[in-house]
Amino acid sequence: LFAGETEFVKGVVAMSGLPAPDRLEVCFAGRSNVGKSSLINALTGRKGLARASNTPGRTQEINFFTAGEAHYLVDLPGYGFANAPVPVVEKWQRLLKQYLSGRQTLRRAFVLIDARHGVKKVDDEILSLLDSAAVTFQVVLTKADKVKEKERAKVLDQVRTALAKHPAAYPEIVVTSSEKGWGIPTLRTIV
Ligand code: GDP
Repeated sequence: LFAGETEFVKGVVAMSGLPAPDRLEVCFAGRSNVGKSSLINALTGRKGLARASNTPGRTQEINFFTAGEAHYLVDLPGYGFANAPVPVVEKWQRLLKQYLSGRQTLRRAFVLIDARHGVKKVDDEILSLLDSAAVTFQVVLTKADKVKEKERAKVLDQVRTALAKHPAAYPEIVVTSSEKGWGIPTLRTIV
């Protein structure tokens, strides 16, 4: 997927704005600050590519990037903002639900989980959404360099237990650090 050029296409705030479904796509989801932009940049080898999604005003958009000739890489807005107003959260949930259940060209989701925190309630809600939409998903632990081996094993156990309840989950968990480059080559072969 990442063999070719990656370019920002557009940010979308409503289903009507989605690009034509003329490429297969994979999407990336995670709580805000989970390290999603860093991971997308590490995967694509293009620093600053996903920064567009992190600028104010862009954070509630679904951002589309081309990946090579035949795919889209889709950066979903980070969820779980501590102080987000209820209408904003509801609008986002509605759009996400519509996108996940209605996008025929969506092949797989990558759900990013912070290696320090494991699966939180907000994450679990997204995983259930993916189950209902029958979108298979790969869980990716991020920022693994920030936890010690022992702590990481504990979090991995917690994540495995959480995933067992989700039929759409891939059983394997990819452990990554964008900072150290850990797991990036592995993830490239899966994406
Ligand atoms: P996003 O909000 O999910 O897009 O998160 P960002 O990619 O912007 O990362 C949030 C913060 O975590 C930034 O300060 C990053 O430098 C830091 N970060 C991201 N990935 C890693 C990682 O693998 N290791 C470490 N130590 N820090 C990271």
